[in-house]
Amino acid sequence: MFFRFLQKKINDFWASKFGPIPPEFHSLETDGPFRHCLDCGGSLLFTQYLIEKIYSNGEVIYEYALCVECAKKLREELSRESKKAIKRYLRRNRTVKQTLEACTCCRLPKEELPSYQIIGQFSGEEMLNWNLPMLICEPCVDGLAEHLSKQTRDRLDGFLDEHFPGPPEMDVPLPTRSRPVLI
Ligand SMILES: [Zn+2]
Ligand SMILES: [Zn+2]
Repeated sequence: MFFRFLQKKINDFWASKFGPIPPEFHSLETDGPFRHCLDCGGSLLFTQYLIEKIYSNGEVIYEYALCVECAKKLREELSRESKKAIKRYLRRNRTVKQTLEACTCCRLPKEELPSYQIIGQFSGEEMLNWNLPMLICEPCVDGLAEHLSKQTRDRLDGFLDEHFPGPPEMDVPLPTRSRPVLI
């Protein structure tokens, strides 16, 4: 009896950690779920992956999915100090978790934010509700970026430059460069 109760608890726990992919994380380009990793081009159907979308004035300016292997590779290129700094910053500043309605740090509602990014973690056709998803506004990303080494900032900017050459197809100027928070 107790065992069955425990089993149910465990099942409920795991069920609460997986959910359908919300439309916010669909690809604007394909109007459906992301299918391929931006970096290696591999299928995302049977792997874990991250999605990041950067918004400015209500428009998606960058969006991509990155498989767990490529995310790991990118992470390995960042300095140890920066990785620690990101963890520390988020540990100290995150005030609300797992919402796409407000900034995870300053809690300003999405509607009041000119620029922000959303990040989620996925497995095949499901979203993982662990530490993510999160929404973070541009000033809070900038606050985080201040704690990063120049090497890390250059690497993250370079990552976007490599994959999105040329200006984004829109005439809304980006006040500052938003950096991917892939950690
Ligand atoms: Zn990949
Ligand atoms: Zn914020």
